[in-house]
Amino acid sequence: MSDCLFCKIMNGDIPGEKVYDDDNVFAFKDVNPQAPTHILICPKKHMSTILDMDTEDEAVIGSIFSVANTLATEMGLEKSGFRLVLNCGSGAGQSVFHVHFHMLAGRPMKWPPG
Ligand code: 5GP
Ligand code: ZN
Repeated sequence: MSDCLFCKIMNGDIPGEKVYDDDNVFAFKDVNPQAPTHILICPKKHMSTILDMDTEDEAVIGSIFSVANTLATEMGLEKSGFRLVLNCGSGAGQSVFHVHFHMLAGRPMKWPPG
C-alpha cells in the first residue's frame, strides 16, 4: 500500500534497521524501543489490522512465530524470555496500521500490560 509507513520501510523507500527478510515476513528494529530488544515483525502483505485477515493469511501469521523463534535463538533469549505483542485498533494502542508483532526482551516484563 503506497501510503503505509511499514510498506515503505519494507520496500526500502524509508530507512529501517532490518533484522529478518524472506518472501512473506519482514522484521526491523523499532525506532522508539520500549525494551533493550524491540523488534517489529510484519507480514509483507499489507493488512491494516488482524481484522483484515483471511484464512489464506493464516500461514504468514504462523510464519511470524517461526521468525520470532529464530530471532530469539539468534539473540540468545531462550532463558531470559521475550514477549510478543500485537495491538489491534487504536483503543488497544495500535498507531501504525500495518499488522505487526512487537518482540520485546532484555528487561523484566510486568503483567498485565498497561
Ligand atoms: P503500534 O503502536 O502500532 O502497536 O506500534 C507501532 C510501532 O512502530 C511503535 O512502537 C513505534 O515506535 C514504531 N514506529 C513508528 N514509526 C516508525 C518508523 O518510522 N520506523 C520504525 N523502525 N519504527 C517506527
Ligand atoms: Zn503496509
